[in-house]
Amino acid sequence: MRKTPRIGIMGGTFDPVHFGHLVTAEEALVQFNLDKVVFMPTGRPVRKTHRHVSSAEDRYLMTVIATASNPDFEVSRLEIDRPGDTYTVDTMLQLREIYGPRSELFFISGADAVREILTWKDAGRFAELCTFIAATRPGFDADLDSLEPVQGAVAPHLEAMEVPALAISSSDIRSRVSGRRPVRYLLPEAVAAYIEKNGLYREPVV
Ligand code: ATP
Ligand code: MG
Repeated sequence: MRKTPRIGIMGGTFDPVHFGHLVTAEEALVQFNLDKVVFMPTGRPVRKTHRHVSSAEDRYLMTVIATASNPDFEVSRLEIDRPGDTYTVDTMLQLREIYGPRSELFFISGADAVREILTWKDAGRFAELCTFIAATRPGFDADLDSLEPVQGAVAPHLEAMEVPALAISSSDIRSRVSGRRPVRYLLPEAVAAYIEKNGLYREPVV
Protein backbone atom coordinates (compact mmCIF):
# COMPACT_ATOMS: atom_id res chain seq x y z
CA MET A 1 0.00 0.00 0.00
CA ARG A 2 1.07 3.61 -0.59
CA LYS A 3 2.63 5.76 2.13
CA THR A 4 -0.61 7.67 2.28
CA PRO A 5 -3.18 4.94 1.97
CA ARG A 6 -6.51 5.98 0.53
CA ILE A 7 -9.18 3.93 2.22
CA GLY A 8 -12.86 3.90 1.28
CA ILE A 9 -15.40 3.04 3.94
CA MET A 10 -18.80 1.83 2.86
CA GLY A 11 -21.03 1.92 5.91
CA GLY A 12 -24.46 0.41 5.97
CA THR A 13 -26.91 -1.89 7.62
CA PHE A 14 -26.51 -4.35 4.73
CA ASP A 15 -29.77 -6.10 5.57
CA PRO A 16 -29.14 -7.50 2.99
CA VAL A 17 -26.20 -6.25 0.94
CA HIS A 18 -27.11 -5.85 -2.77
CA PHE A 19 -25.70 -4.81 -6.15
CA GLY A 20 -26.43 -1.13 -5.41
CA HIS A 21 -23.86 -1.25 -2.60
CA LEU A 22 -21.34 -3.25 -4.64
CA VAL A 23 -21.56 -1.06 -7.74
CA THR A 24 -21.21 2.08 -5.62
CA ALA A 25 -18.12 0.74 -3.83
CA GLU A 26 -16.48 -0.36 -7.08
CA GLU A 27 -17.16 2.99 -8.70
CA ALA A 28 -15.65 4.85 -5.73
CA LEU A 29 -12.59 2.61 -5.80
CA VAL A 30 -11.88 3.55 -9.40
CA GLN A 31 -13.06 7.18 -9.51
CA PHE A 32 -11.15 8.15 -6.36
CA ASN A 33 -8.15 5.90 -6.90
CA LEU A 34 -8.63 4.14 -3.57
CA ASP A 35 -6.42 1.31 -2.30
CA LYS A 36 -9.40 -0.62 -1.01
CA VAL A 37 -12.95 -0.33 0.19
CA VAL A 38 -13.82 -1.54 3.67
CA PHE A 39 -17.46 -2.54 4.12
CA MET A 40 -18.57 -1.67 7.61
CA PRO A 41 -21.83 -3.27 8.73
CA THR A 42 -23.32 -1.19 11.54
CA GLY A 43 -23.63 -2.68 14.99
CA ARG A 44 -26.81 -1.24 16.44
CA PRO A 45 -28.11 1.24 13.90
CA VAL A 46 -29.31 4.21 15.93
CA ARG A 47 -31.78 5.34 13.31
CA LYS A 48 -33.30 2.00 12.37
CA THR A 49 -34.92 1.09 15.67
CA HIS A 50 -38.43 1.12 14.19
CA ARG A 51 -38.00 -2.18 12.42
CA HIS A 52 -36.52 -5.58 13.10
CA VAL A 53 -32.91 -5.64 11.93
CA SER A 54 -31.27 -9.01 11.22
CA SER A 55 -28.52 -10.12 13.58
CA ALA A 56 -25.13 -8.47 13.16
CA GLU A 57 -23.67 -11.89 12.41
CA ASP A 58 -26.09 -12.54 9.53
CA ARG A 59 -25.46 -9.08 8.05
CA TYR A 60 -21.70 -9.49 8.45
CA LEU A 61 -21.66 -12.94 6.81
CA MET A 62 -23.82 -11.80 3.88
CA THR A 63 -21.41 -8.92 3.31
CA VAL A 64 -18.40 -11.26 3.44
CA ILE A 65 -20.05 -13.62 0.95
CA ALA A 66 -20.91 -10.73 -1.41
CA THR A 67 -17.42 -9.24 -1.41
CA ALA A 68 -15.34 -12.45 -1.26
CA SER A 69 -14.35 -12.49 -4.92
CA ASN A 70 -13.11 -8.88 -5.02
CA PRO A 71 -9.47 -8.50 -3.85
CA ASP A 72 -9.99 -4.75 -3.25
CA PHE A 73 -12.98 -5.19 -0.93
CA GLU A 74 -12.87 -6.24 2.69
CA VAL A 75 -15.34 -6.38 5.57
CA SER A 76 -14.68 -5.00 9.03
CA ARG A 77 -16.13 -6.21 12.33
CA LEU A 78 -15.21 -2.94 14.04
CA GLU A 79 -18.76 -1.67 14.48
CA ILE A 80 -20.48 -4.96 15.11
CA ASP A 81 -17.96 -5.86 17.83
CA ARG A 82 -18.18 -2.48 19.56
CA PRO A 83 -20.75 -2.53 22.36
CA GLY A 84 -23.50 0.08 22.58
CA ASP A 85 -25.08 2.24 19.90
CA THR A 86 -23.13 2.80 16.72
CA TYR A 87 -21.75 6.25 15.96
CA THR A 88 -19.83 6.47 12.73
CA VAL A 89 -17.58 9.22 14.03
CA ASP A 90 -16.14 6.75 16.59
CA THR A 91 -15.44 4.34 13.76
CA MET A 92 -13.57 7.00 11.81
CA LEU A 93 -11.41 7.76 14.85
CA GLN A 94 -10.59 4.07 15.22
CA LEU A 95 -9.77 3.72 11.53
CA ARG A 96 -7.44 6.67 11.71
CA GLU A 97 -5.53 4.87 14.46
CA ILE A 98 -5.41 1.65 12.47
CA TYR A 99 -4.24 3.20 9.18
CA GLY A 100 -2.15 5.99 10.68
CA PRO A 101 -2.32 9.78 10.63
CA ARG A 102 -1.17 9.96 7.00
CA SER A 103 -4.03 7.86 5.71
CA GLU A 104 -6.89 9.45 3.81
CA LEU A 105 -10.33 8.18 4.66
CA PHE A 106 -13.28 8.40 2.28
CA PHE A 107 -16.73 7.74 3.61
CA ILE A 108 -18.85 6.42 0.76
CA SER A 109 -22.60 6.65 0.98
CA GLY A 110 -25.72 7.27 -1.01
CA ALA A 111 -26.83 10.90 -1.26
CA ASP A 112 -29.73 10.05 1.07
CA ALA A 113 -27.37 8.86 3.78
CA VAL A 114 -25.19 11.98 3.45
CA ARG A 115 -28.28 13.99 4.17
CA GLU A 116 -28.73 12.11 7.45
CA ILE A 117 -25.08 12.46 8.36
CA LEU A 118 -25.09 16.18 7.77
CA THR A 119 -27.82 16.66 10.30
CA TRP A 120 -25.89 14.80 12.97
CA LYS A 121 -24.57 16.95 15.70
CA ASP A 122 -20.93 16.11 15.08
CA ALA A 123 -20.97 16.57 11.33
CA GLY A 124 -18.15 19.10 11.67
CA ARG A 125 -15.91 16.70 13.56
CA PHE A 126 -16.72 14.03 11.06
CA ALA A 127 -15.59 16.27 8.24
CA GLU A 128 -12.17 16.73 9.81
CA LEU A 129 -11.66 12.99 9.73
CA CYS A 130 -12.69 12.09 6.23
CA THR A 131 -13.97 13.10 2.82
CA PHE A 132 -17.54 12.21 1.99
CA ILE A 133 -18.27 10.60 -1.34
CA ALA A 134 -21.94 11.07 -2.02
CA ALA A 135 -23.29 8.67 -4.63
CA THR A 136 -26.28 9.76 -6.59
CA ARG A 137 -29.02 7.26 -5.99
CA PRO A 138 -32.22 6.94 -7.97
CA GLY A 139 -35.13 8.56 -6.17
CA PHE A 140 -32.95 10.71 -3.96
CA ASP A 141 -32.14 14.26 -4.89
CA ALA A 142 -28.39 14.54 -5.29
CA ASP A 143 -28.38 18.31 -5.25
CA LEU A 144 -25.88 18.59 -2.42
CA ASP A 145 -25.78 22.38 -2.64
CA SER A 146 -29.26 22.48 -1.20
CA LEU A 147 -28.14 20.88 2.04
CA GLU A 148 -28.77 22.66 5.32
CA PRO A 149 -26.43 24.92 7.35
CA VAL A 150 -24.19 22.11 8.63
CA GLN A 151 -23.02 21.72 5.10
CA GLY A 152 -20.82 24.76 5.62
CA ALA A 153 -18.55 22.73 7.88
CA VAL A 154 -18.23 19.83 5.50
CA ALA A 155 -18.47 21.45 2.08
CA PRO A 156 -14.74 21.24 1.30
CA HIS A 157 -14.85 17.55 2.12
CA LEU A 158 -17.82 16.62 0.03
CA GLU A 159 -17.49 14.98 -3.39
CA ALA A 160 -20.38 13.91 -5.57
CA MET A 161 -20.08 10.71 -7.54
CA GLU A 162 -22.36 9.45 -10.25
CA VAL A 163 -23.09 5.74 -10.24
CA PRO A 164 -25.06 3.81 -12.81
CA ALA A 165 -28.71 4.11 -11.88
CA LEU A 166 -29.72 1.20 -9.71
CA ALA A 167 -33.06 1.45 -7.97
CA ILE A 168 -32.21 -1.49 -5.72
CA SER A 169 -32.78 -1.20 -1.98
CA SER A 170 -32.58 -3.62 0.93
CA SER A 171 -36.14 -2.73 1.97
CA ASP A 172 -37.47 -3.74 -1.42
CA ILE A 173 -35.52 -7.00 -1.30
CA ARG A 174 -36.91 -7.79 2.19
CA SER A 175 -40.46 -7.18 1.06
CA ARG A 176 -39.89 -9.30 -2.05
CA VAL A 177 -38.59 -12.22 0.03
CA SER A 178 -41.54 -12.04 2.42
CA GLY A 179 -43.95 -11.78 -0.52
CA ARG A 180 -42.25 -14.72 -2.29
CA ARG A 181 -41.35 -12.49 -5.22
CA PRO A 182 -38.04 -12.87 -7.11
CA VAL A 183 -34.81 -11.28 -5.90
CA ARG A 184 -32.55 -12.86 -8.49
CA TYR A 185 -30.31 -10.30 -10.29
CA LEU A 186 -30.76 -7.76 -7.47
CA LEU A 187 -28.05 -9.23 -5.25
CA PRO A 188 -25.33 -11.90 -5.51
CA GLU A 189 -26.73 -15.40 -5.88
CA ALA A 190 -24.79 -16.68 -2.89
CA VAL A 191 -26.41 -14.00 -0.69
CA ALA A 192 -29.86 -14.99 -1.95
CA ALA A 193 -28.99 -18.60 -1.08
CA TYR A 194 -27.90 -17.54 2.42
CA ILE A 195 -31.21 -15.72 2.92
CA GLU A 196 -33.15 -18.77 1.81
CA LYS A 197 -31.08 -21.21 3.86
CA ASN A 198 -31.43 -19.19 7.05
CA GLY A 199 -35.04 -18.20 6.56
CA LEU A 200 -34.37 -14.46 6.69
CA TYR A 201 -37.13 -11.91 5.85
CA ARG A 202 -39.93 -14.49 5.76
CA GLU A 203 -42.11 -12.43 8.09
CA PRO A 204 -44.09 -9.65 6.41
CA VAL A 205 -42.18 -6.38 6.44
CA VAL A 206 -43.35 -3.92 9.08
P1 ATP B 1 -32.80 0.10 3.48
O1 ATP B 1 -33.75 0.04 2.32
O2 ATP B 1 -33.06 -0.92 4.53
O3 ATP B 1 -32.60 1.48 4.03
P2 ATP B 1 -30.48 0.36 1.77
O4 ATP B 1 -30.67 -0.33 0.46
O5 ATP B 1 -30.66 1.84 1.82
O6 ATP B 1 -31.38 -0.34 2.89
P3 ATP B 1 -28.30 0.56 3.58
O7 ATP B 1 -27.59 -0.57 4.22
O8 ATP B 1 -29.25 1.37 4.38
O9 ATP B 1 -29.08 -0.06 2.31
O10 ATP B 1 -27.31 1.50 2.80
C1 ATP B 1 -25.94 1.59 3.00
C2 ATP B 1 -25.38 2.68 2.09
O11 ATP B 1 -25.54 2.32 0.72
C3 ATP B 1 -26.10 4.02 2.26
O12 ATP B 1 -25.12 5.02 2.17
C4 ATP B 1 -27.03 4.07 1.07
O13 ATP B 1 -27.30 5.39 0.67
C5 ATP B 1 -26.22 3.34 0.01
N1 ATP B 1 -27.06 2.68 -1.00
C6 ATP B 1 -28.02 1.78 -0.79
N2 ATP B 1 -28.59 1.37 -1.94
C7 ATP B 1 -27.97 2.06 -2.93
C8 ATP B 1 -28.10 2.10 -4.39
N3 ATP B 1 -29.00 1.34 -5.02
N4 ATP B 1 -27.29 2.93 -5.07
C9 ATP B 1 -26.39 3.70 -4.41
N5 ATP B 1 -26.20 3.72 -3.05
C10 ATP B 1 -26.98 2.90 -2.33
MG1 MG C 1 -30.99 2.93 3.59
